[in-house]
Amino acid sequence: MHSARRGTVAVLLLLVASPLLSQSAKAADAHVVVVRAAKMLDVKAGKVVANPVVIIEGERIKEVGPGLAVPAGAKVIDLGGGTLMPGLIDAHTHLLQNYDFAFRDDDNNMVLTVAQMSPAERALLGAKMGREDLEAGITTVRDLGNSGINGDVALRRAINHGWVTGPRIVASTRALAAAGGQFGKLQHDAQALVEQEYVEIATVDDARRAVQRAFYDGADCIKVIVNTGPRVVSLEAMKAIVEEAHRVHKKVAAHAIGDDATRIAAEAGVDSIEHAYIVPDDVLKMMASKKIFMVPTDYPEKLYTEFVPATATTEERKETEARMKKFAQDNHDRLKRAVAAGVRIAAGSDEYYQMGKRTRGESSTLIYEAYRDSGMTPWQIIEAATVNGAELLDRQDRIGSIEAGKFADIVATSGDPSLDVTELEKVKFVMKGGEVVRNDFTQPPER
Ligand SMILES: [Zn+2]
Repeated sequence: MHSARRGTVAVLLLLVASPLLSQSAKAADAHVVVVRAAKMLDVKAGKVVANPVVIIEGERIKEVGPGLAVPAGAKVIDLGGGTLMPGLIDAHTHLLQNYDFAFRDDDNNMVLTVAQMSPAERALLGAKMGREDLEAGITTVRDLGNSGINGDVALRRAINHGWVTGPRIVASTRALAAAGGQFGKLQHDAQALVEQEYVEIATVDDARRAVQRAFYDGADCIKVIVNTGPRVVSLEAMKAIVEEAHRVHKKVAAHAIGDDATRIAAEAGVDSIEHAYIVPDDVLKMMASKKIFMVPTDYPEKLYTEFVPATATTEERKETEARMKKFAQDNHDRLKRAVAAGVRIAAGSDEYYQMGKRTRGESSTLIYEAYRDSGMTPWQIIEAATVNGAELLDRQDRIGSIEAGKFADIVATSGDPSLDVTELEKVKFVMKGGEVVRNDFTQPPER
């Protein structure tokens, strides 16, 4: 009786076990995903690869090449005539800020945002902005401050935990700045708002303490506002910031505009100079020799008219449009000078608002057109938005190219961005870490 029962149990186990085994084998196979398309941009080599096959296991790329055999049981995502390229990297954004043009200017928006929104509320706003970035093909951002106290770190953690969907975030926590940060005029009692948004530094000791505090708070990099009007961080303080950050192998991003501020940033040896709308040739030379990236946060000329508030009079509109047109042209000139001087460019949008009815992501991908209008080639622009961004973010071992061992952060367009960079405004497929975020290639086009 006993042995018979044991025998029955053994048979039952066999019956149950075999489908279980084959099911788990299937699960292992389903773990492998293959993405293929007509073309792929090999950004490092600067060439187009025909019939690429990307084999992905879990969140990473296992193998990539033209015409590779599809492993048995793998899930195949065929993007037909599309072009694959690495996920876009926006090296300068502000996900936890979204200004309203109705409030006219940055000063008003800053006060309202900081006075009325908690870091928690801003992190939730950031979740929306981040999702919109990711859906537009931006799989990684460097978020450079204006996040309240550590709101950016909270959002990064939420995305990493999978609580919300968004890009990889390299966070700076609060920006370091001279008195007042980037606030406009504030009454004495209202100046308490400043510390919600900036860490004010004056001395070398302040600077060192602020850098150490940022890393304690969870920063991946440091952001410094070198100048705001006549308030300028000293060269000595800048050197201390760079030394303190580099000592622990972290990078420094410097907001700097004008001859003096850009020179202080370059002399101090920061890793990137943001904006640099005005920058002299000798500083560009220094940036090239010290391998300091420029992050030109420019917009295409055609869009500047959208900055004019609807309530503006005809006269105001004319005046603003003329000023914006001159600004765009000056930006083209300085970017041309920078590229000619050998300064490396990393793409950054400085989006803290949305243009018209576009999503945050759709607004952020408009910078490439501005770079094109400044004479950069599509390949130079794509490099700025992928491999250069990865290096500036110190993530070159993980992101920025479609290579074995890297995260499967892949986007696809129906046209070829190396021929027309505006294709980057129309990304149709987005994968982050092996997971499909978006796929508009419903019917694979004819190959
Ligand atoms: Zn910015």
